[in-house]
Amino acid sequence: MKNSIVIGGGAAGMMAAVIAARRGNRVKLYEQNEKLGKKLFITGKGRCNVTNNTDCEDLLSNVISNPKFLYSAFYDFDAGACMDFFEEIGVELKTERGNRVFPKSDHSSDIIRALEYEMRRLGVEVHLNSKVKSLLVTDGVCEGIKLSDGKEIKADNVLLATGGVSYPLTGADDSGLRMADETGHKVTELYPALVPLRTREVWCHELMGLSLRNVSAKIKNGKKTLYEGFGEMLFTHFGVSGPLILSASSKITKHLKKSELMLTIDLKPALTPEQLDKRILRDLESAKNKQFKNALSDLLPSGLIPVVIELSGISPEKKANELTRAERLSFGTLLKNLPLTVYDTADFKDAIITQGGISVKDINPSTMESKRVQRLYFAGECMDVDALTGGFNLQIAWSTGYLAGSNM
Ligand SMILES: Cc1cc2nc3c(=O)[nH]c(=O)nc-3n(C[C@H](O)[C@H](O)[C@H](O)COP(=O)(O)OP(=O)(O)OC[C@H]3O[C@@H](n4cnc5c(N)ncnc54)[C@H](O)[C@@H]3O)c2cc1C
Repeated sequence: MKNSIVIGGGAAGMMAAVIAARRGNRVKLYEQNEKLGKKLFITGKGRCNVTNNTDCEDLLSNVISNPKFLYSAFYDFDAGACMDFFEEIGVELKTERGNRVFPKSDHSSDIIRALEYEMRRLGVEVHLNSKVKSLLVTDGVCEGIKLSDGKEIKADNVLLATGGVSYPLTGADDSGLRMADETGHKVTELYPALVPLRTREVWCHELMGLSLRNVSAKIKNGKKTLYEGFGEMLFTHFGVSGPLILSASSKITKHLKKSELMLTIDLKPALTPEQLDKRILRDLESAKNKQFKNALSDLLPSGLIPVVIELSGISPEKKANELTRAERLSFGTLLKNLPLTVYDTADFKDAIITQGGISVKDINPSTMESKRVQRLYFAGECMDVDALTGGFNLQIAWSTGYLAGSNM
């Protein structure tokens, strides 16, 4: 029977602890917080989007950083296996729009409680309020851990599953990454991802709270398109957010370190420029005696009208039937290309995920064991892997936790 240590009682750590214990290991789990799964608790707005009910190729296509590295982990423990696992330990699940899987109860706490029960059933020793300070490594072999109170605990193998640095409110910090760094692993630069974006334009801030559905967004660096997508977005007091923008952020966060980027919003993506012009013409004709500012209520949300008119340079008081053809066409072009300048992301404290982490080049993708230190394993967000929203990030944690736990 092997003695295993798991550092971190989040998604990846708890999964690994269960699997290692099921394989006959004696497992001790150390968590710095006063309870397990603090970040898991807030996932999916408290409902926990556990996984995405899809095949491995689709899982991989939703991974932003290092999808190839996750091939074995996903094929060993895919979304179906993950759903079976949770149903077996007593969590009933349901699949919603976009294949998103949630507990039937809509309570993330059910996921945490089921994992806790299963660990208890298997005899996993859980140590809360226990911060791990360093790894004990001798001659390239991990032999245990040292706690922040100085206590040393020996083990046959150790798993580092300390998560990313985003949402520090949940206790997330860089202590795990530091331990990896101290033991010779490369830690790549960290960026906030799945995060709102900051824009220069002040008008954007004034629209705080306004959400736009069925719009498309394009983000460019000079002539190069970095992102194109369709969906829902939201204006905030510092810029833009919402599902469409969060997805965009994961594709552009690294580029923002170097330069500002151009975001253009197409407010009418379903219409060609010609169709949109006809539509504007119709609206103007049916409101011909009204002022321009009062002729757009069928076309745009009311909050947006003064902003768009100001950007167009057309007088808001001008009579609807007095607009020139050139003015009308340029107004249509503006609606299909509303320009914003993105200069930064919001901070890690508002980022759903951390991009960057322990370099996957230092980890064996078939076992999750370190290539630099024997008997040391990694799982979850502490590694340089991240994905889009939809349950894919938790699936990374479950799959890599499963693989590490199986090989410990
Ligand atoms: C608001 C929000 C909503 C989200 N919603 C979803 C969602 O619905 N679906 C989805 O797929 N993903 C979601 N995510 C992402 C998902 O939560 C993470 O990808 C996932 O939790 C990563 O699991 P992990 O086990 O690697 O890390 P974590 O869950 O962060 O667990 C790491 C644990 O290690 C502990 N730890 C760290 N350092 C030490 C140390 N030195 N000693 C002891 N313990 C330590 C931490 O306290 C923590 O409990 C969301 C994230 C956020 C912030």
